[in-house]
Amino acid sequence: MKIVIDPNAGVCPGVKNAIRIAEKNAGNGSLIALGALIHNPQEVQRLDRIGVRYIDQEGIESGQQLDSIRGKKVLIRSHGITPALLNTLKPECSILDATCSRVKRVQKVIHEHTSQNYQIIIVGKKNHPEMRGLLGYAGDNGIGVSRKQDLDKLEYSRPTLVVAQTTASPELWHTVCEDLQNREINLKIIDTRCKVIARHHEHIRSFAQRMDAVVVVGGKTSSNTAVLFEIVRSVNCHAQWIEQADEWVLPSAKTIKTLGITGGASTPLWQLEAVRDEIGRYVREGR
Ligand code: SF4
Repeated sequence: MKIVIDPNAGVCPGVKNAIRIAEKNAGNGSLIALGALIHNPQEVQRLDRIGVRYIDQEGIESGQQLDSIRGKKVLIRSHGITPALLNTLKPECSILDATCSRVKRVQKVIHEHTSQNYQIIIVGKKNHPEMRGLLGYAGDNGIGVSRKQDLDKLEYSRPTLVVAQTTASPELWHTVCEDLQNREINLKIIDTRCKVIARHHEHIRSFAQRMDAVVVVGGKTSSNTAVLFEIVRSVNCHAQWIEQADEWVLPSAKTIKTLGITGGASTPLWQLEAVRDEIGRYVREGR
């Protein structure tokens, strides 16, 4: 059986950039990230081993843990932070800003429209760190919307701008935009969802169609991996979702000649390679 890693798999460019900056500046534990750089415990442990520590962002926002970053190098992860938190950090530490350029674009759009007296609706997950950062740019003009019902509680006496958290689900985005377009309001829509994610979904569908069977590697609690697995399963009936290689089960069909391995936006390439090598060993040993 031939085992092929999806050439488009691996972490997204924003997270990859944050990890690259962390690796370059790590050493003797003096680099502290504001929150875990990636939703992947094995990668967080690997970074910890090379000296990248992380601290809960909430502790710094509340001021309670400011002592632990004083005089250190602090890394802002790809999700970005609020302008208020940035001002808190500036006099205390040396800042490495790994905010993704696509997130910065949304921050800029929000900031510009806030100064033009727009009400800003941000579509996404209310407690997601990126959403918290974006709301900080909107100040009193911003509202995070995670459900269509949230729209009924709003006033529409001012012009309204609707933007998205970069990773907002397509379903939620379209539902919210459609609802707002059906109201008689002064509305401006700017689609700020990350195109990298949409392109990745298209690539993954075509990769899964070309393989006889597919293994999706990623945490069982990862909503991003769940979405990928559904896409793979919709086009390939021999799909498995595993966290580690030892969960893999040899598909019973005799016709399987190529096995594809892919992963979510928080599964780094080295993990896919490790899974490929272990599955290769199981196949050779006739497991
Ligand atoms: S905006 Fe896109 S590329 Fe940037 S961190 Fe988010 S998912 Fe990754």
